[in-house]
Amino acid sequence: MVVQEKNNTPAAIAACHDPFMKIALEQAACALGEEEVPVGAVIADKDGVVLAADHNRTIGLNDPTAHAEIIVIRKAAELLGNYRLPGVVLYVTNEPCVMCMAAIIHARISRVVFGAEDPKWGGAGSLYTLQSDTRFNHRPEIIQGICEDACRQIMVDFFKSKRHKGYCANRRT
Ligand SMILES: [Zn+2]
Repeated sequence: MVVQEKNNTPAAIAACHDPFMKIALEQAACALGEEEVPVGAVIADKDGVVLAADHNRTIGLNDPTAHAEIIVIRKAAELLGNYRLPGVVLYVTNEPCVMCMAAIIHARISRVVFGAEDPKWGGAGSLYTLQSDTRFNHRPEIIQGICEDACRQIMVDFFKSKRHKGYCANRRT
């Protein structure tokens, strides 16, 4: 698989990124099976080699920072033996939150591809637009809307089922 698009038509962009987002969606489904918020992420290098794939683990790890993006950034950095990841692409099913966008900028990740927008936490265009803040010394390219319907639906279904079960009332906050 090759990450770089041959041209920038919507169909070409989707064809290029869909296979990686499908892996991220598989990870989101794993999260669902663990009753975690179903967000999955993948990091691929510039040649399209998948370096890491994982999902949200905040509840299982009792770790508010264990978002899918943070986990794959840590894994890829360890694999490459480098705290910076220039040239890699991070795929994530849901728009990265502010924390994850900051980590993406710290890691110097070149490109972020996400599926569904997150109006409550999104740091890549919804609540904040950190990628275009010129006060930072690195600005990742953002591509959004890849496999958007599937990425949104898994979140909608999760929260609908949790509301049905009284999830919010029973969570320790
Ligand atoms: Zn996050």
